[in-house]
Amino acid sequence: MKIDFANLQYQHELYRDEIEDALLKVARNCNFIMGNEIVELEENLKDFTGSSHAISCSSGTDALLLAMMALDIKPDDEIITTPFTFIATAETIAFLGAKPIFVDIDETTYNIDPTKIEKKITSKTKAIIPVSLYGQPADMDEIMNIAKKHNLKVIIDGAQSFGSTYKGKTDSFLGDISCTSFFPAKPLGCYGDGGAVFTNDDELAIKIKSLRVHGQTKRYYHKYIGMGGRLDTIQAGVLNVKLKYYAKDLALRQEVADKYNESLKNHQNIVLPFVKEDRTSAFAQYSIRVKNREALQEKLKQDGLPTAVHYPMPLHLQECFAYLGYKKGDFPLCEKVSQEIMSLPMNPYLNDDEIAYISSKLN
Ligand SMILES: *Cc1c(COP(=O)(O)O)cnc(C)c1O
Repeated sequence: MKIDFANLQYQHELYRDEIEDALLKVARNCNFIMGNEIVELEENLKDFTGSSHAISCSSGTDALLLAMMALDIKPDDEIITTPFTFIATAETIAFLGAKPIFVDIDETTYNIDPTKIEKKITSKTKAIIPVSLYGQPADMDEIMNIAKKHNLKVIIDGAQSFGSTYKGKTDSFLGDISCTSFFPAKPLGCYGDGGAVFTNDDELAIKIKSLRVHGQTKRYYHKYIGMGGRLDTIQAGVLNVKLKYYAKDLALRQEVADKYNESLKNHQNIVLPFVKEDRTSAFAQYSIRVKNREALQEKLKQDGLPTAVHYPMPLHLQECFAYLGYKKGDFPLCEKVSQEIMSLPMNPYLNDDEIAYISSKLN
């Protein structure tokens, strides 16, 4: 049996006519930049998330940059985040000259441990960036309470969690600003790079929209130092089609995760994903923990089973962050999990036979 990790090919086949029509429509209208599809997408994203403002942009990375620029993050500001995430979370902080301050993770959810945040707050701290890792929101009430007490802003890195919920609200509705990515392999992916920024603050929304087009307020008049951060119309066309089916995709991802949980629960030496009761995961990844990861990955590869590691090297140990002065042992839980974590194939279309096959090969 040969199993596809994200199965984007199958998804294209499923919605092929509609998606190809949308692509052609943009080509024929030649409205490549900020066309009507963008306006439609932003309305659709607002409806889906409940956020007051949805601002599409060029990538998840640029969404984080736009969020921090909107909050006036400056060189020497400190921003608290997790070391167990994709590089973009902390890279964007450093790119603006600010300093990523890492806090260890919760060993069950792999998200930032809010009980360890307060002792890292200094007079330079400006914001907290929790990441909704693998699709599961972090402990948002605890994080928002700390932020309120110390007058900090909260930006959610929801690049993996579009459509997930926390106490009934979407991940995009929470925080001062919430960011997501439409990179093809994310739960809601477009056909290239894309992202979005969400906020319920009217003034921040106006500023983010301006920052997205070089800080302009009207054509060729620039109030801020901004960036070229627009989403292509063609990507909005694809997303408008895929968003119609996204609630179903999320339900299917949850079903696949439930089936994995059921079929792997009696396997010795495997730690299953844990999602807290008051929230849902978008299951961008289904990640388990095993002791003999590299050998197991090699064996599974022989069996036609692709696996991935998100992420093998914690950010505090990355070469690019050597100047921050962290060392091995600073975040023991993150370091331990990064040695053991392994993602199994995850997409809405995995069937019972495939899950049974994967389970048998993991035994
Ligand atoms: C994918 C990802 C990003 C970056 O998104 P891009 O659209 O690829 O720029 C940022 N943060 C996390 C946690 C991600 O998984």
